[in-house]
Amino acid sequence: MNQLPPVFMEKMKSLLGEDFPAFKQTYHEAPIRSLRVNTLKVSKEKFLELVPFQLDPIPWCAEGFYYNHDIDRPGKHVYHAAGLYYIQEASAMSPAEALQPQPGEKILDLCAAPGGKTTQIAAKMNGEGILVANEVDAKRIKALVENLERCGVTNAVVLNEYPEHLAPRFTDFFDRILVDAPCSGEGMFRKDPAVCERWSLRAVEKCATLQLDILYSAAQMLKVGGRLVYSTCTFNPVENEQVIATFLTNHPEFRLLPVPKQTHYQSGNPVWIPSPHNEVAKTARLWPHRLRGEGHFVAVLEKTDGEVRKQKIGKFPPVHRDAKQLWSSFQKENLTTELPEGTFTLYGEHLYFVPDQLPSLRGLRVERPGRYLGQAKKRHFLPSHALALSLKPSSVKQVINFSSDQPELSLYLQGESLPFSGKGWTIITVDGFPLGWGKASNGLLKNHYPKKLRWDK
Ligand code: SAM
Repeated sequence: MNQLPPVFMEKMKSLLGEDFPAFKQTYHEAPIRSLRVNTLKVSKEKFLELVPFQLDPIPWCAEGFYYNHDIDRPGKHVYHAAGLYYIQEASAMSPAEALQPQPGEKILDLCAAPGGKTTQIAAKMNGEGILVANEVDAKRIKALVENLERCGVTNAVVLNEYPEHLAPRFTDFFDRILVDAPCSGEGMFRKDPAVCERWSLRAVEKCATLQLDILYSAAQMLKVGGRLVYSTCTFNPVENEQVIATFLTNHPEFRLLPVPKQTHYQSGNPVWIPSPHNEVAKTARLWPHRLRGEGHFVAVLEKTDGEVRKQKIGKFPPVHRDAKQLWSSFQKENLTTELPEGTFTLYGEHLYFVPDQLPSLRGLRVERPGRYLGQAKKRHFLPSHALALSLKPSSVKQVINFSSDQPELSLYLQGESLPFSGKGWTIITVDGFPLGWGKASNGLLKNHYPKKLRWDK
């Protein structure tokens, strides 16, 4: 068991009263492990037929399952590399459920890395609409991009900005916003000793100030009638009920909606904050001693009043004809059906499709302006890994399929070339699910699985 901060335990004792012994006991138990099926790639039914893991459903997320870490390691399975699921903590699935994303909407995930909730939102949007995934930390954003690519998300724009820089550009723009805020992480104590060491009362206060600042920017970016979900993985009321009460005082154009009730969720507690605000009972608490999960706080807010503005759609600089030509030839040679036409944009030699209706991104730090197609080199087109992972095998002319237990797959994921008599760009699939590109010539399939993702030999 990790060394828990005594001040933290004292506070929890006074908050939880008779529940405290059960709460304390959870620190003697192993962390709960879970995954979420990525329905952008596979239906839940097909997934359950395919995978060899022992699974147990999570009550509040239809696509979520507990697995047994003593028996199974789904994070190391080839289906993980193919993006069939995301390893996600069970209670962390609750905020995206409460957000209720719909296909075709404009949705912002403001604190997105490493992308657990972004990929969950993306699956619910089913590739339709605009999903802006923002992460302020330039290091953490790499994992976000990798996860979005692995999960085959095609409608995401990935930004690397402070929320206050985004707010003027996206004023009244989004139908839904998730603020899964940076927090003191008390729900991580069981998993991560470093989080315990960083914790202090001062850190809790600092987090609360930051959380309110982030919420104020989010409020500006939400449309009237839009839904804002705030969540943390911490237990203290200062970062939870208190943040929501202060936000409501300063933003009377918002009201709290009850979090859709789920088995074992508890209500937020108005008595825990200095100036009781009865409304906060509509928020939800997921406690580790009341359900199988590490714990979370979720609040659902609705913007009821404000201006309705016409949105300015961005103009993206015209892309040179040569780049489009290279892409077009690549499609004709290698795909059975061409992708729907979109607005192209070029960053260096990297070619993207920008989602329709997107405002200008000029002056913002952009990690991915849209669907990444590949690199338009001088004379040829180099398709991206993201493209491979987002295509249906039936839309690619040349495919080699292996079943999950065939040794060729491990060799491919380790970066080895494979014998193959075809010619040109080829998708390698596991049981029909794309893993990446190879390029065949002279009896050999040259490996194009990204170096940074390769498995150890
Ligand atoms: N939503 C993510 C997921 O489900 O995978 C987890 C997000 S984590 C709880 C909070 C994120 O907020 C971190 O990635 C952190 O880098 C980011 N963050 C830190 N400071 C921030 C700030 N000032 N504004 C916005 N985000 C910030």
